[in-house]
Amino acid sequence: MQLTGRNIIGFESFSEGTVAIQATNPATGETLAPLFYKATLDELNYATEKAEKAFQVYRKKSGIDKAIFLEKIAEEIENLGDLLIERYISESALPQGRAIGERGRTIGQLKLFAQLLRDGSWVNARIDTALPERQPAPRPDIRAMERPIGVVGVFGASNFPLAFSVAGGDTTSALAAGCCVIFKAHPAHLGTSELVGLAIQKAAKACNMPDGVFSLLFDDTHEIGMALVKHPSIKAIGFTGSYKGGKALFDAAVARPEPIPVYAEMGSVNPVFVLPRILKEKGKTIAENYVSSVTLGVGQFCTNPGILLCQSDELFMKELEQQSTKSQGGNMLTAGIKDAYLKGIEHSKNYTKIIGIGKAPEGLSAVESVILHTSVEEFNQNPHLSEEIFGPTSLVVEANSKEEILSAAHNLNGHLTATVHGTDEDFAEYTDLLEILEQKVGRILLNGFPTGVEVSHAMVHGGPFPATTDSRSTSVGTMAITRFTRPVCYQNYPDVLLPFELKSDNPLSIWRLVDGEMKK
Ligand code: NAP
Repeated sequence: MQLTGRNIIGFESFSEGTVAIQATNPATGETLAPLFYKATLDELNYATEKAEKAFQVYRKKSGIDKAIFLEKIAEEIENLGDLLIERYISESALPQGRAIGERGRTIGQLKLFAQLLRDGSWVNARIDTALPERQPAPRPDIRAMERPIGVVGVFGASNFPLAFSVAGGDTTSALAAGCCVIFKAHPAHLGTSELVGLAIQKAAKACNMPDGVFSLLFDDTHEIGMALVKHPSIKAIGFTGSYKGGKALFDAAVARPEPIPVYAEMGSVNPVFVLPRILKEKGKTIAENYVSSVTLGVGQFCTNPGILLCQSDELFMKELEQQSTKSQGGNMLTAGIKDAYLKGIEHSKNYTKIIGIGKAPEGLSAVESVILHTSVEEFNQNPHLSEEIFGPTSLVVEANSKEEILSAAHNLNGHLTATVHGTDEDFAEYTDLLEILEQKVGRILLNGFPTGVEVSHAMVHGGPFPATTDSRSTSVGTMAITRFTRPVCYQNYPDVLLPFELKSDNPLSIWRLVDGEMKK
């Protein structure tokens, strides 16, 4: 397969635009061939026209047909082999192990959704059978299930060129739901995006999917992204990125004549609490693992632990200092992300002191890791300190009492995760902390670290605003599918007209809630 730099619109490729953009290796500054052509508004309109038509066919595909399609996409991504891995590395400055791991995660994610579709019970089928004799009024036959929402616009994230990008969680869950996807590629990894886009196109053709089920558009300005959100054919948006970007897209979506849902996963600081007894017992190990978690992937994870809260402990602070000065930074994903990181650290220095600065490797976008320190009093007074600094940094907030720990927890905004380290006795003493955190985050972990998000059925990668624009869902794991569906109720439908999932003899053998009882 060869890179063309052309926008993918269904089964065709286009480069009508005259503005060229190019990818850059963030570590060396080298520009990478080929030239990519910024999509035009006409191309966006053509993609939406095709997607709307395709939706009328794709929405009726069976779970098995969609599962085969997702499995074929996984196979085609695997077939890209070293070409994909090499391009990923040169566009992201991330190491080979991470590239291979992320490809595995992306393929695994596609296969997990395929399994969900093969099983079929995810549609949440509910049947209330008719009660013609009921007094004073008979009950009609009422049946409901989840149906696809329409054409979905998806934005690629900078920090996961595969797993949160072209064939990442948003695209996969939208396609699994029965929606067509128009994808706005992230300008930091144009080539990786095109390769995966071509793999999806090939899979769509091989599986007899309608032309327009998937399109991929390039742009390095906000023009196409904004037009995508405002386009009347688009019925929902998936996004991972900055607070600024996610909130701008959300505001545009709710201001449309027909407002649409925006599932934006934005910044999160992922507080980690270390309770007093475990701090004494395992402070050294916790300090070591905490600094590793902060610097993993050059800190460019939305689950990076950006704040650690604990009660004063001199030994623990010494250990943190040692670990942070030993730690290794790395090259960041883009020059812009490096710039934002350095500015964030400079700004925080006005209100905090530095515990330790690590080492930086060679490279144009290389940065050092930095661990900062402040008191609960300062933290509670200064809202800037709970804002995300995307990169290998974290703020240690030292408390003088349990009350101070609880007041800091009360002051937190919405986050993706919260972590608590403790012994059984600690947890018994701090149940009130766990109660507070449950209201602040999408995932609470005990005695672990938040980096490393399992793709599974029970995973929640979401949380209250400002972590996301919709706390009722997740962008990782199979629960993500219902972001792109809506329930439809069929009243008094004869069996012949009902979808297979709702027919009386249950031909797909799925789990259904029949007259209030779960049945196969
Ligand atoms: P971003 O600036 O939010 O961009 C993400 C995508 O959204 C890009 O395709 C971008 O297009 C588009 N976009 C952003 N603002 C837009 C707007 N107003 N209108 C239309 N489209 C818009 O995020 P990023 O480039 O990935 O990284 C920048 C910062 O985001 C990082 O420094 C970090 O703070 C944060 N970030 C957070 C997470 C997380 O999971 N919490 C993940 C990644 C990044 P263009 O690039 O063409 O503008």
